[in-house]
Amino acid sequence: MDTEASMQPRMTFRSRALATEAVHAGRDDLAALGLHAPPIDLSTTYPSYDSRGEAERIDAFATTGARLDGPPVYARLDNPTTARFETALARLEGTGSAVSFASGMAALTAVLLVRASMGLRHVVAVRPLYGCSDHLLGAGLLGTEVTWTDPAGVAEAIRPDTGLVMVESPANPTLAEVDIRALAHSCGSVPLLVDNTFATPVLQRPVEQGAAIVLHSATKYLGGHGDVMGGVVACDEEFAARLRQVRFATGGVLHPMAGYLLLRGLSTLPVRVRAASATAADLSRRLAADPRIARVHYPKVGGAMVSFEVYGDPHRVISAVRLITPAVSLGSVDTLIQHPASISHRIVAEGDRRAAGVGDRLLRMSVGLEDVEDLWADLCQALSAPPARTAAGTVPESLPAVP
Ligand SMILES: *Cc1c(COP(=O)(O)O)cnc(C)c1O
Repeated sequence: MDTEASMQPRMTFRSRALATEAVHAGRDDLAALGLHAPPIDLSTTYPSYDSRGEAERIDAFATTGARLDGPPVYARLDNPTTARFETALARLEGTGSAVSFASGMAALTAVLLVRASMGLRHVVAVRPLYGCSDHLLGAGLLGTEVTWTDPAGVAEAIRPDTGLVMVESPANPTLAEVDIRALAHSCGSVPLLVDNTFATPVLQRPVEQGAAIVLHSATKYLGGHGDVMGGVVACDEEFAARLRQVRFATGGVLHPMAGYLLLRGLSTLPVRVRAASATAADLSRRLAADPRIARVHYPKVGGAMVSFEVYGDPHRVISAVRLITPAVSLGSVDTLIQHPASISHRIVAEGDRRAAGVGDRLLRMSVGLEDVEDLWADLCQALSAPPARTAAGTVPESLPAVP
């Protein structure tokens, strides 16, 4: 927990502590229903003998975007199981509402479409961002125009048609942090979106620091087991209503089974994040003292992500790990490692990637719940693995000198 937030009255947005909300939010009605585990509602449609009443409910949704009272008419409007996950996540982030989507990218798409529908297509963004977020903003797929800047340049980059300021903190993959409070101040009346995928509400609640919109790839820590894809936006009810209307029209809904798994994931989120963060902090100290490592990135806010630059060949480390899984994605119970310049940030143009600090020597590790000594032993043997040789006997990859 960051010190400033912890000094504030704890109950500003939440009525119960985070660890308690994690296991109870979105489940308040279960005992009255005679249930312990949340029910999974897989209905795609809902019967009604009252079509006049349904017409009124559909009109109300089209005008306000507010959640329907009673059955959702059709599964693209809403779902009781995914709604439980939304309620719980909003409580953890300290926002009035949350809206879930099929993936983190579907969630970001909906945010951009809401703003574009209001004629606000310009976005100010700070690099690095997750590779595909960078691509979505920059490629103009949604008619978005982006100005890239550093946090100090945000106020100046804002125009009359700016609909959003977007940052990640800690950022994927360099773990660079921004001062959210100061940045929110620079944004004035333009909503600040913070992608909080890496810190999770366990370590940081951006809305308490002035952000208006919090985005998660729920695929990562919220799910936490590498077996469910989803995205979620935590925000006030007014913006949530617009997001629901866009979600209804564009169809990027979270499946109820995924909603169930994400709600279950939230219940262990605080213990998973704290345990993995302790291991990650330990590994970051060991890596920083290791002569094979040029540089270690570990954020002040903590967390279970560690990035590091190697003197040797990063591809060799990837091919030599045995306990650690060489794979993209993050936030699972097991440790994953990947080479951002080849995989997660491949889609970003090389020059932009490098300028954002995503060099060819950088490896990004998502630390899981294994024992720290086993992880360290695997890293050590991978870092010392002999250079891979081509048939001709030469070292295949030559990297630029460490700056
Ligand atoms: C993975 C990721 C995303 C995209 O989420 P998906 O669920 O893969 O669509 C967005 N932001 C960050 C920081 C991510 O790591």
